[in-house]
Amino acid sequence: MENLYDLSLGDVRKVFEELGEPGYRADQLWQGLYQKGWTRADQFSTLPRSLRDRLGQKYVIGCLRQERVLISSDGLTRKYLYRLPDGSAIETVLMEYSQRQTACISSQVGCAMGCSFCATGNMGLSRNLSRGEIVEQVLKSALTIKEGGKELTNVVLMGMGEPFHNYEEVLSAIRTLNDPGGFGMGMRRFTISTVGLVPGIRRFAAERTQINLAISLHAADDELRSSIVPINKKYPLSALMDACDHYLGETNRRITIEWALIEGLNDTPDQARKLALLLEGKLFHVNLIQLNPVEHYQGRPAGDRSAAEFQNILLEAGIPCTIRLRRGIDILAGCGQLASQPQR
Ligand code: SAH
Ligand code: SF4
Repeated sequence: MENLYDLSLGDVRKVFEELGEPGYRADQLWQGLYQKGWTRADQFSTLPRSLRDRLGQKYVIGCLRQERVLISSDGLTRKYLYRLPDGSAIETVLMEYSQRQTACISSQVGCAMGCSFCATGNMGLSRNLSRGEIVEQVLKSALTIKEGGKELTNVVLMGMGEPFHNYEEVLSAIRTLNDPGGFGMGMRRFTISTVGLVPGIRRFAAERTQINLAISLHAADDELRSSIVPINKKYPLSALMDACDHYLGETNRRITIEWALIEGLNDTPDQARKLALLLEGKLFHVNLIQLNPVEHYQGRPAGDRSAAEFQNILLEAGIPCTIRLRRGIDILAGCGQLASQPQR
C-alpha cells in the first residue's frame, strides 16, 4: 500500500487522470487531506463511494502509530513517540509558548552524524523518513493543537535526524505543507536546522525559499568542533562559514547559530570571543541552550553564570544572542532521548 501523504498534488492529479476521473476530483482529495484533515476514506464525502473504494485498495492515509505521549510537569511541552510500519520509532515534540505553538519534527530514523552530546547521534542512522512521514508529523501536531483551541504556528526540523542528509524528502514535505490549495502553511513558519552540511546549504541557498535556516555550530575553532561534531572534519569551519556567506548573499535572510553550552568545554569566554569574530558584521543571531543531559554523554550543562557571560560577550560585539529556555527536560524532550530508550 502507498501512503497518500507521499504524493504531491501533481502526483494526485496524475493518479486521477489514470483512473479516468475529472481533474477537480484531485483537488477535492487534496482539500480533504490538507484542509479538512480527514484521515479515513469514509470521511471523504466529496468523493463518490466507488472512487473512495478504488483509492482505498491502493492507498493508506498516513502510517504513524502513536505509541507514547509524555507531558511535561508544566503541561506546555508534549512529546510523542510514533511507531512506523517497519517497526522503527520517531519523535515529535510540541511546545507551547504564549504567542506560538511549535512542532519539532524528525527527518530521519536516527542520524549518521554522531555528534557527541546527541542521543539521536548515538543511535546511528536507520533510514530516511519519506516525505509523507514528515508531512504526517505536522498534520498530527496541527490537529492536537487545534483540539486545544490554538493554531500550529511554527515547524522546526530539530527532532531526530539531519534534514540536509534527507534533502529531497524534507523539501518536498515542506512544499506539500506550503501548498495554498491545501494545508497552506507559510514558508517562513518552517526552520531547517543543519549540523553544517556544506553542499546542502549551497543547494538550499539556490532554492531561494523563505524557509528559515539554523546552523548547529557548538564550537568556534576546528579542533574543538571536530571533537564535538565529527562532520566538521569533512566540512571545516572555513568551508562552513563560506557557505553561510554564500547563503546570506543569495537570500539576505538571517541565519540562526545554535550552540549547546557544555560546562568547561564550549562555554568559555575564549569560545565566545572566537564566535564573535566569526559572525561580526553579518546577519546572524545566536541561540544558546544549556546542554540537555544525555545518558551516554559525560558532559554537563553550562551553569547560568557562564551562559550569561557568554551571551554578554556576543551582545557587546553587536551580535544578537538569546538563551533558549530548556523545555521538557523532565520528559526527555532532548532530540532522540525518548526513541533511544529501551522499549518499555
Ligand atoms: N541534525 C540537525 C537537527 C536536529 S538536532 C542539527 O544538528 O542541527 C536539533 C538541535 O538539537 C541541534 O542544534 C543539536 O545540536 C541540538 N541538540 C542535540 N542534542 C542536544 C542536547 N543533548 N542538548 C542540547 N541540544 C542538543
Ligand atoms: Fe544528528 Fe543533529 Fe544529533 Fe548531530 S545533533 S547527531 S546532526 S541529530
